[in-house]
Amino acid sequence: MDIELSSEDLAFRDEVRQFFKDNAYKPGDDYNQWRLDWFKKAREKGGWDVPKWPKDFGGPGWTPTQHYIWEQETARATLPWDMPFGVGMVAPIIMGYGNEEQQQRFLPDIRARTVNWCQGYSEPGAGSDLASLKTKAVLSEDGSHYVVNGQKIWTTAAHIADWMFCLTRTDDSGKKQEGITFLLIPMKQEGIEVKPIITLGGNHTVNTVYLTDVKVPVENRIGEEGKGWTYAKGLLQHERTGLAGLSRSLVALEGLKENARSVTRGNGTLMDDGSFRAKVAELEVDLLAAEYTELRSLASAQAGAAPGPESSILKLKGTEIQQRIQKLTMEAGGVFSAAWGDKSVGPKFARGGMAGYLASRAYTIYGGASEVQKDVIAKNVLGIKRSSK
Ligand SMILES: Cc1cc2nc3c(=O)[nH]c(=O)nc-3n(C[C@H](O)[C@H](O)[C@H](O)COP(=O)(O)OP(=O)(O)OC[C@H]3O[C@@H](n4cnc5c(N)ncnc54)[C@H](O)[C@@H]3O)c2cc1C
Repeated sequence: MDIELSSEDLAFRDEVRQFFKDNAYKPGDDYNQWRLDWFKKAREKGGWDVPKWPKDFGGPGWTPTQHYIWEQETARATLPWDMPFGVGMVAPIIMGYGNEEQQQRFLPDIRARTVNWCQGYSEPGAGSDLASLKTKAVLSEDGSHYVVNGQKIWTTAAHIADWMFCLTRTDDSGKKQEGITFLLIPMKQEGIEVKPIITLGGNHTVNTVYLTDVKVPVENRIGEEGKGWTYAKGLLQHERTGLAGLSRSLVALEGLKENARSVTRGNGTLMDDGSFRAKVAELEVDLLAAEYTELRSLASAQAGAAPGPESSILKLKGTEIQQRIQKLTMEAGGVFSAAWGDKSVGPKFARGGMAGYLASRAYTIYGGASEVQKDVIAKNVLGIKRSSK
């Protein structure tokens, strides 16, 4: 793909930059109000609040190059806080498989960022092997609602979520991929208990969610009963593409080099150290190669194709690259990276280096562990058949 920018593309890039500049957060602004206003103004630009949504649902209908420019520019700008679960994950499912009433009911709030969503897929015993999930949904006799019982785990942001999109089992008589039903569950209701899990980096982002006799109206079911696996699979590919974060890594890599240049090593800086430079160079080469895969993926998306198995390559390489940047940042900070909590010692960039590195261990687990991505690539990209042994 030719990524030489045309004069129209350069004009678009300038327009994006100007928009970010004009709408930047100013100290003293009410953050939440600024956030909602930002998305409103982005919407008024013609769907800039939902760049990846199809045009029919209000997306901007950009070319792959415009998407590429947007990614590059957003990585450099400070955008309002946004979670992927609404706009990026459940919305495409509602657009693709929900009925018109559901689209009208859910999409406006998702788009306005006035509701928070979480993803209720994983369970103890059902992570990589997601289809083994056991959270049970039983349809009431009058067919008006499901009664849901079970446990979800690693649920990011469940403690601040208004809604959870949830995979439940409605039938366990056939193949495990069959009999899974996709439900939208309001979180603020009786029978839902959210318990925090504190991760290695010391943060509270993930939770366990217990569901006990939770009533879910049948109108909250997406698509057909028992077909949830098909819908969820499509969503996983969207999720994986979004997790690669290559543009952010390009910016982070620049930051890493700059930080390493500020660290004295012998008569020079850490960037003059042959072994450190070699690691940075290797990282940069891998990052550029992954970026080209992303461009190919954008081109096929523009041609109307759903994300394919290349999303597994992006997830695998993109998250490994993020981890390597975290690791080299920790290395550059040396002992100062080990300082924990709010206190900072040594160079400013070293603060939280170790915590960041530990938190980054999760990148190659969530959204499908690396080993699972390698399985997908072996089967669907390389065409390698599983051994019959
Ligand atoms: C920080 C974080 C946030 C998360 N957020 C969410 C969320 O919001 N919603 C949600 O539903 N889930 C979430 N998850 C869960 C995540 O999707 C699962 O952790 C992941 O799918 C792996 O499942 P598991 O933890 O059960 O590990 P397991 O599936 O038990 O895997 C354990 C190990 O075995 C390996 N393994 C498994 N199967 C194979 C195979 N076929 N071949 C080779 N190796 C294999 C894995 O790679 C891994 O190393 C989150 C996880 C983390 C860490």
